[in-house]
Amino acid sequence: MQKMLVMKFGGTSVGTIDALKSVAEIIQDAKKDWSRIVIVTSAMSGVTNLLLDSAAAASQGKVDSLPAAESTLREKHFPAADALIKDETLREQTKAEIDTLILSLVDLCKAIAVLGEASPRAMDTVASLGERMSVRLLGAVVNDAGIKAQAIESTGFIVTNAHYQNAHPDFKVTTEKTRAELNPLMDQGIIPVTTGFIGATPEGAITTLGRGGSDYSAAIIGAVLPADEVWIWTDVDGVMTTDPRIVKEAKTLPEITYSEIAELAYYGAKVLHPKTIRPVVDAGIGLRICNTFNPANPGTRLIANAKVNGKVNGKVVKAVTAIRNQRLVTIEGRGMLGVPGVAARAFGAVASTKTSVPLITQASSEQSICFAVPTESAQPVIDALQSVFSREIEDQDIDRVWMTEDVSIITVVGVGMRHTPGVAGQVFSQLGNSKANVLAIAQGSSEVSISLVVDAADTETAVKALHELIVQ
Ligand code: ADP
Ligand code: ASP
Ligand code: MG
Repeated sequence: MQKMLVMKFGGTSVGTIDALKSVAEIIQDAKKDWSRIVIVTSAMSGVTNLLLDSAAAASQGKVDSLPAAESTLREKHFPAADALIKDETLREQTKAEIDTLILSLVDLCKAIAVLGEASPRAMDTVASLGERMSVRLLGAVVNDAGIKAQAIESTGFIVTNAHYQNAHPDFKVTTEKTRAELNPLMDQGIIPVTTGFIGATPEGAITTLGRGGSDYSAAIIGAVLPADEVWIWTDVDGVMTTDPRIVKEAKTLPEITYSEIAELAYYGAKVLHPKTIRPVVDAGIGLRICNTFNPANPGTRLIANAKVNGKVNGKVVKAVTAIRNQRLVTIEGRGMLGVPGVAARAFGAVASTKTSVPLITQASSEQSICFAVPTESAQPVIDALQSVFSREIEDQDIDRVWMTEDVSIITVVGVGMRHTPGVAGQVFSQLGNSKANVLAIAQGSSEVSISLVVDAADTETAVKALHELIVQ
């Protein structure tokens, strides 16, 4: 029998009565092979968005949609509790606890409305309610299915800094606390069912790890215990050649290397949060992505190194991904050649707006710097650049700082690209034939990916065209 397994279930995996039933079966099944199991859960699908929308509306003074949010939350959780928790005491207690959390959403939103603003800290407290509700529901459902389990909030052991909405764990303290909280349960044969996405500062203020962060929670918990494997259960058969919502012929990849998934996740494949990979790689833990709605499928297994030059069926491109809602920002001027530290100052200005830059291209002439930023950050970035370079702009060393309309970053990934000449050529001729207009390019420093920027309107065309390099 193998030792320790961490399984994370995403929002859709705990989003309906049938899904929750499958989850209980999957856990029952895993018990045959694993002596110690930890479950990490997301909020039921749609809940985190609803919570954050309610808080955002409240910050504008709008509280009239709160009663509707309250009933939606009850409608999501209560029928599942009614259907899946036979034990009346357990069922009523679970529903009462969830109801208390729903009422605290109302209180929090009213307080936000009075203040007229929602601080990042307040947003995290609100966002945390989703996982704090689902963990109680799932814990009770699993117990009621005859599996000894205990719901436990990760705020008690995932200790983070106070960088609200994108908090970073303190691995040392988290290791001690996680072991101290979870091991005694597992020693008694109890499966801890814990919240993904959330942690707390040393002072106890609730934080979140960033949207989609439950995958990261599973990786953190797996790394610090340590577990032998982390399995991410979601609503598709694993990591696919591209987002099946864009190309329905997308295929599941039975294997993918850590460096490939890192690029894919970073460049927009929502199937795995990009921060998930590092803790498991560092701790040498196996990672697998599988489908709650098709558990018999083996899903995708992460591997350290690709076989045969990383080619799949002789193709070097393994997957294509897209990040939408970006703008390209360009700083240009012939006088830039002589100005020292332009790039450092430019990125310093960007950093001052707390924006991260997914892609940078530099023209070899040094007469321009061009990079992508998320659309919502583009104007603040332009303003910061104009202020940092006000002298150079006045002196006309810098001619202009400007941005495009919305663009998308399209990335092709495959470790075999490192050894295969001409992949870039194939990529560009394929795009040329599809008539998607390429605005900028960048090759990842890992040589495992090539990214290009296209107009927002060309996103699907570009993804479909590049996907043909895989399936043709
Ligand atoms: P969960 O709630 O389980 O965390 P997510 O919605 O965050 O699930 O991620 C799963 C979704 O990611 C899939 O339903 C799919 O639409 C999307 N996706 C995007 N790119 C890929 C890809 N390359 N492979 C698989 N799924 C992808
Ligand atoms: N519930 C959180 C979110 O929607 C975390 C997650 O699902 O991974 O972002
Ligand atoms: Mg996710």
